[in-house]
Amino acid sequence: MSSDIPQPDPPEHELPGADTPAQDPTQAEVDQASDPASHRFECRSCGYVYDPTEGVKKLGIAPDTPFNDLDPLSFRCPVCRSKMGAFKDIGPRDKPSGFEENLNFGLGVNRLTPGQKNVLIFGGFALAIAFFLSLYSLR
Ligand SMILES: [Zn+2]
Repeated sequence: MSSDIPQPDPPEHELPGADTPAQDPTQAEVDQASDPASHRFECRSCGYVYDPTEGVKKLGIAPDTPFNDLDPLSFRCPVCRSKMGAFKDIGPRDKPSGFEENLNFGLGVNRLTPGQKNVLIFGGFALAIAFFLSLYSLR
């Protein structure tokens, strides 16, 4: 698994409210890269990445919901239903776009959970329908 992703900053410097006063709103904008609310979290069970800018449509979690604002009692990984404790902070979204996701797609095929297979099957099915409809509309 991709557990050796380099963290941009040591965790000690990222503890919210450790010894720094609350950020004022103007600085929060500039300093978003180190804002814990922007951090993505990876499920250690299946590799699913929670991206706070996207939320989880399937679970009714709105975009721009920080991971730490999720309800630990009700949140489950949308893919494998692991609890929040299974998620690991992988830092803010400042890496080359899509690298991790692509890595997971490339390596993950042989360790798909049933949930992921359903997603793939359903996604493929939807694509096939879309393709068919687009052919149909060309006539
Ligand atoms: Zn998972």
